[in-house]
Amino acid sequence: MAKKVLIIGAGGVSQVATLKCAMLPEVFGEITLASRTESKCKAIAARANRPIKTAQVDADDARQVAELIRAEKPDLVMNIALPYQDLPIMDACLETGVDYLDTANYEPRETAKFEYSWQWAYRERFAAKGICALLGSGFDPGATNVFTAWMAKHLFDEIETIDIVDVNGGNHGKAFATNFNPEINIREVSAKCRHWEGLYGKDGKFVETDPMSMHKSFECPDGVGTYEIYRMYHEEMESLVQNFPTIKRAQFWMSFSPSYLNHLQVLKDVGMTRIDPIVYNGVEIVPLQFLKAVLPEPSTLGSTTKGKTCIGVIAEGTKDGKRKRAYVYQVCDHEESFREVGSQAISYTTGVPAMIGAKMVLEGKWRKPGVWNMENFDPDPFMDDLNKYGLPWKVQDPTEY
Ligand code: NDP
Repeated sequence: MAKKVLIIGAGGVSQVATLKCAMLPEVFGEITLASRTESKCKAIAARANRPIKTAQVDADDARQVAELIRAEKPDLVMNIALPYQDLPIMDACLETGVDYLDTANYEPRETAKFEYSWQWAYRERFAAKGICALLGSGFDPGATNVFTAWMAKHLFDEIETIDIVDVNGGNHGKAFATNFNPEINIREVSAKCRHWEGLYGKDGKFVETDPMSMHKSFECPDGVGTYEIYRMYHEEMESLVQNFPTIKRAQFWMSFSPSYLNHLQVLKDVGMTRIDPIVYNGVEIVPLQFLKAVLPEPSTLGSTTKGKTCIGVIAEGTKDGKRKRAYVYQVCDHEESFREVGSQAISYTTGVPAMIGAKMVLEGKWRKPGVWNMENFDPDPFMDDLNKYGLPWKVQDPTEY
């Protein structure tokens, strides 16, 4: 039976997730789209193939979210606002007894610190209330967790190393812009790099290195091209090393163009990426938030972005006593994404898994009380839906190497 969702946030990712949900009325019977700026919800709703209700909400305030949930009575709240809103929205879901999904883990505004501890602390309360939270249902985190779970289920007896590689071979034609929320993006890439070494629960730990200090060239499959990829911290490693404790090394790599890195360095050098408040003309402002206000909105980049993304997971380990390596990846074309839903591929590759994660919960395939990461569920139905709903993936599986 078709269910009802409340989607919070009306940016680039939400546009894709909302339009994709609207295309599946048999699952998403009714959709309410709410955000801080309701006009953005209305603009997205106007593109949809059927009516979508809109509302205004400040999701920093759990009480406002709870009131909206009581009014709308959704079966699931999809949080596609910003990581800062994760906890207030989870609180509102707890209060009203409604399932929860998001695409990025909570981080406090005052420190760029990405970890699941704050959200995992809700496990017992969600379980006791009988409601389900699905964390990180985007591409990375999200599809990359599911790729790892799928390889663990079908290709390996034991996975020993994973390298998550996120290449954006697209060009938006702007001097400097970020592909998703600029504030979150710049906090993420400016953070110290951490990668996992050792076995979880024994000698394993995250090893810290300077941001962008390790990089190498990576040739993408299917003619996407060769790009310089930089090692950085990314949140899915935290849950993956716990859920697959045979992993002895986990690394995350992302491609950046020299121009992006040069601009970022200058912005850092002049203090524009600071997240502590400064006083300007008698008013407190956070330089990074001010910078966000002058940069292009990611949702506006779709019309000019050309090229492809290639995001995947390379795993090494053993199968039947032999060493092996496998690579599961997905290639997405910016212009095709724009033609379908008016958004570039970064929003597309995040919004589609958000819709599929919601579908998994609503259909009961991935629903159990508690707080879960994507790899805690059977990867197969999600992998099938990626193929069906716009993100076909491939596997390179040399049996031995
Ligand atoms: P945008 O900045 O484009 O959109 C964010 C939206 O959230 C805006 O509509 C904004 O409203 C709204 N919002 C912000 N604060 C509040 C609030 N207090 N109450 C209600 N609404 C609020 O971001 P993106 O669409 O690029 O990213 C959305 C999320 O997806 C982020 O959490 C990001 O980290 C995550 N993401 C995850 C990826 C993955 O692969 N897992 C990849 C890319 C992004 P307003 O317009 O008024 O500012």
